[in-house]
Amino acid sequence: MRKPIIAGNWKMNKTRDESLQFIYAVKDRVASADTVESVICAPFPYLRCLVKRQGASLRIGAQNMHFESEGAYTGEIAPQMLSSIGVSYVVLGHSERREMFNETDEAINKKVHVSFSNGLIPIICVGESLEDREAGQTNQIVEAQTVKALEGLTKEQAKQVVIAYEPIWAIGTGRTATAEQANETIGYIRSVIERLFGSEVSEAVRIQYGGSVNPNNIKELMAQEHIDGALVGGASLDPQSFLALVNYQ
Ligand code: PGA
Repeated sequence: MRKPIIAGNWKMNKTRDESLQFIYAVKDRVASADTVESVICAPFPYLRCLVKRQGASLRIGAQNMHFESEGAYTGEIAPQMLSSIGVSYVVLGHSERREMFNETDEAINKKVHVSFSNGLIPIICVGESLEDREAGQTNQIVEAQTVKALEGLTKEQAKQVVIAYEPIWAIGTGRTATAEQANETIGYIRSVIERLFGSEVSEAVRIQYGGSVNPNNIKELMAQEHIDGALVGGASLDPQSFLALVNYQ
């Protein structure tokens, strides 16, 4: 059985005070870690203060990192900087980073490797644009992104990755993929993983859906066979809404 994982992606939002108010409001009210993994992916400056207050069933993630471990990379954050302050997860290859910051599949693959060498669990984002979907290219696009992101991983590592399928046209638009559409593409991603690593890995790996998830549609999405969680932007910013998401059961 795959344990569901619900992660909030705050993107570039909240002040430090708002982050603290949020964590105090939710830390003791999230679903038990025995049933759901709950994660907040916050801006870098707040990570340490959130980790200190994370509580038994809530873990903290970053939204990006560099693949190099140190050096002349002004403005960048190295993987061990995150692990050394107790961060557990890192979102990699979000479509906003691919589009606005020119992140390539190659760079994402390097980041996936170094997350394992630093004890971080990667949440790897894949997803097609509206143009791709309308051209019938969805499966090809997510397949290419998945194959490249996972290249060179051992089976043991591949089992631990979290993949977030996020159709770009559904992000922040209020336009969710239907539960069936999401399930279909996620099932396809699982079949790609089976081809690459075998069924033991593909049955174990967790694949989230992301794109306009909210407390009203989470149940229907989570009821789908292949959907193991959600990566949530807008609806993760409010404590009550985040609690409704992680307590969807
Ligand atoms: P959204 O963002 O929930 O605001 O659509 C999802 C994401 O970008 O991870």
